[in-house]
Amino acid sequence: PAKYLPELKKHWSQDGGDASYAFLTQAFILVNSTTKRIKIVDTLVNLLRILIEGAPDSLLPAVWLATNSFAPPYEPAELGLGGSVISKAFKNIYGLNAQGLKTLYNKHGDAGDVAFEAKKRQSFTLKKPKPLTIKGVYQSLVKIARSKGTGSQETKQRIVERLLQDSRSAEESRYIVRTLVQHLRIGAVKTTMLIALARAFLFSKPPDANFATKGMEALAKLKKEELTEVYLRAEEAVKASYARHPNYDDLVPCLLEIGVTDELLVRCGLTLHIPLRPMLGSITRDLSDMLTKLQGRDFACEYKYDGQRAQVHCDSNGKVSIFSRHLELMTDKYPDLVSLVPQIRGESVSSFILEGEVVAVDQETGDLQAFQILTNRAKKNVEIGSIKVNVCLFAFDLMYLNGEPLLDRSFRERRDMLRSLFTEIPKRFTWVKNLDATSADSEAVLEFFKSATDVKCEGIMVKVLDNDTKPGSGVTNSGVDDHENLEVEEEARDKRLTKKDRSTRRKALLSTYEPDRRLESWLKVKKDYSTSSDTLDLIPIAAWHGSGRKAKWWSPILLAVRNPETGLLEAVTKCMSGFTDKFYQTNKEKYSEDGENVISRPSYIDYAGHPDVWFEPQEVWEMAFADITLSPTYTAAIGLVSDERGLSLRFPRFLRVREDKSIDEASTSDFLAALWRKQMERAQEEEGAALDPSVDDNI
Ligand code: ATP
Repeated sequence: PAKYLPELKKHWSQDGGDASYAFLTQAFILVNSTTKRIKIVDTLVNLLRILIEGAPDSLLPAVWLATNSFAPPYEPAELGLGGSVISKAFKNIYGLNAQGLKTLYNKHGDAGDVAFEAKKRQSFTLKKPKPLTIKGVYQSLVKIARSKGTGSQETKQRIVERLLQDSRSAEESRYIVRTLVQHLRIGAVKTTMLIALARAFLFSKPPDANFATKGMEALAKLKKEELTEVYLRAEEAVKASYARHPNYDDLVPCLLEIGVTDELLVRCGLTLHIPLRPMLGSITRDLSDMLTKLQGRDFACEYKYDGQRAQVHCDSNGKVSIFSRHLELMTDKYPDLVSLVPQIRGESVSSFILEGEVVAVDQETGDLQAFQILTNRAKKNVEIGSIKVNVCLFAFDLMYLNGEPLLDRSFRERRDMLRSLFTEIPKRFTWVKNLDATSADSEAVLEFFKSATDVKCEGIMVKVLDNDTKPGSGVTNSGVDDHENLEVEEEARDKRLTKKDRSTRRKALLSTYEPDRRLESWLKVKKDYSTSSDTLDLIPIAAWHGSGRKAKWWSPILLAVRNPETGLLEAVTKCMSGFTDKFYQTNKEKYSEDGENVISRPSYIDYAGHPDVWFEPQEVWEMAFADITLSPTYTAAIGLVSDERGLSLRFPRFLRVREDKSIDEASTSDFLAALWRKQMERAQEEEGAALDPSVDDNI
């Protein structure tokens, strides 16, 4: 994008360094008008470049708004805007009555689209408002999130109404509202933004020798392959920084100051009390698939405990922070773990970041307890004295020690340090159970796998121990459908690497800790997802546009049970697992956007979310799942087991289309509720203790 996009540039306006929100809106419109990733990245690069060069103070708020957030995940900030605030604002600002509002909602589904229509219809405004600015909108969000306590609802209402009032166009209103309901619906996901930032800074603030180029002119003179190389290095630097220090409040000012250089990782890298994005495991079909992949390598098999991942940070003053898999701060949830820290860290340890799985454990027997039990623990402000669900932290990695990041050390080294410098406390803090092996030890690995599933673990994690690369340890893509896109991004990135790089990478199953990456050096082998032998026959009713490799298809797909009493189809789960690429393709052809099998939001479906497409219900799919959970989001079987919550499925997996069944024969909400009761009885028998119904809180 050496030239600016004219369709964006012509909307550029600013006042004293404050870029207008209309400009950002135009970027959203352009991004929204395409599904092509290249076009999306180009638009964002243009947006960012113009801001860097013309209104650098507006850059950071624009990045937050374009990524549909306003604070990093580990800062507990929420807008806390109920649907009623938005509806009331629609009534007050657009003069809609309840019926008018309902009609618009039924027609459009999306609150932003409702705002767009309502604004268009508005015949007059009392006075032309001052243009909204990017900074102003961002600050409004921060104010909404900060207003707490008595009178906060009124304050929030006032800010929302002021934003709607000050929107000058229907499009601005649409994106303001989408921002307020936290569903922006533009394809600018995290990775796209990081790539765009890297490229924008490469052009606007060209680095020096670090990236082997000097300025735009030099970039323009590069051959295509060389340019790709420069892009890649810049992208890798920005992504690496964000994976270790995921906060735009730190990254963007740093980029403005020094541009994209290797210095970024020093200035904005791994930091105590800021969670790094965790390394992820790749799926394998089964043990033999895993053994083939790791041929010739030494690896550690570890129990894959069914609990909650925890990243524990401790500084030299003894301050402890604990973060979840999704980087939320959960120190308050685990005061018992915090209190263990002085005992577990050895004398030579001053500061550290370690990682492990928190599992509910019977303190008498030491037996592992089901994940369901862990979900019974309150999420916040847990008092040590009132803890009923006791936990053990099974530590598996050490990423930082005494002021030094250990990410570049081999897994064997990190594990050795963890186990030699920290102290076990039985049933409270210990190491994951492991077996070190090679592909030749298949019998022992099988035994180990069985022992893991015998104690209710999900399966095993398998991790390459050393960094040495031996030829022939080929990395292949398993082709197994996973429910995350990082693997896909990995694959895409792979495609952009030079031939030489690619072959080096393929040979190298790194044993370093690679934040936010799903490499083949961490493999997961799970027992069949279907721990429940029951299956459900569900009706596919809606879907979202896929991303990454699945961008051409529908994924995830929303499924429902039927309620014969009310005639409603009640949404029960989203599914992205078990489908082959061929199936996805056929599915997309069957439910093509302008085809006859796609409908507008039907009234007989009970689901509050906003899928991108609604299917005409006509098929029944047999689905496997791990277990059934109470859910605040899904309404299936609501009123049958809980008045407020419906039921949903954990690890749903597509098995096959039931050609022999019509939708009238799909599973009912009664049947789902009966399965839930059966599951709870089974759990009670197993645990010998009564379980409170728990909420699936996605831990
Ligand atoms: P994803 O990796 O796709 O996010 P997920 O979070 O649902 O998936 P899985 O893919 O099932 O989890 O497996 C990875 C998770 O397993 C880790 O995030 C961690 O919480 C858990 N886990 C349990 N035991 C271990 C272990 N020994 N090593 C690493 N992770 C473990």
